[in-house]
Order: sequence, then C-alpha cells, then structure tokens
Amino acid sequence: MKVTFDFKTRAWVDCESDRHQNPLAMNDQILVSLRRRAFLRACAGGVALIPAAALVACKGSLSCNDTAGLSPEEQKMRADNKYVDTSPDAAKRCDNCIQFTAGAPDKCGSCKVLKGPIHPAGFCNLWAAKG
Ligand code: SF4
Repeated sequence: MKVTFDFKTRAWVDCESDRHQNPLAMNDQILVSLRRRAFLRACAGGVALIPAAALVACKGSLSCNDTAGLSPEEQKMRADNKYVDTSPDAAKRCDNCIQFTAGAPDKCGSCKVLKGPIHPAGFCNLWAAKG
C-alpha cells in the first residue's frame, strides 16, 4: 500500500486504492476533512471552557483539615466526632448545621463546638439542623 498526503483534500490517501482515483470517493474525503475541521473547531471551543471547569474543580478541592494550630484535645474532639470535609449525607452538611459560621467565599468556615477550619460541605456527629 502506498500512502501519500493529498494537499487538495488535506488527508492521507491510499494511492493504490480506487478511492483516490474515483472523484466521488474524493468528495467523501473532502467531507471527512471538513467534518474533522468542524470537530477541531468544536474542541478548540471546549478548550476555552476548561478554565471555568478547572475553577469549579478548584472550588471542590478546598481542604479544611489543617489542624496544626490546635491543641491535642481539640484535635481529639474533631477525631472523636468524626469530622470530615465531605458529608456522607447531602442533607446534613456543616453549612446547614446550627453550629456553623461561614467564612469568606471559597474559604473554610468555623464551628461553635469543634475548633479549627470547617468545610461548608463537611460533617461531624454533632450535626444539628439550623432552626
Ligand atoms: S457541629 Fe459538626 S456538623 Fe455542625 S458545623 Fe460543627 S463540624 Fe459541622
């Protein structure tokens, strides 16, 4: 099989096949090339969406587990009450708990009973619904 690049259709073609000789087949090649260009244009548009998607992903990557400044007792209380950054129950999250105080947008908040940073989507065994 001998393959060459056809600059007219901007596609690799098999010179020995009938498709290269047949004008109708060449139209198929042009259609494939045009569809490929449309696809690449669509992908290029998708690339422009990546930063927005990355931003959403970054919001999801907020971590509120830095307990370095807490006393051993405060750390133990977090552990004993099984604090986690991601609630296992979407209906019970720190941001709808009576003990939660929100922080700045996209930052950790705080809790009236557990010390240290608290994730808005977090949870612990002391959760109580806001009134
Ligand atoms: S008590 Fe628990 S669930 Fe409620 S805000 Fe504090 S850490 Fe979150």
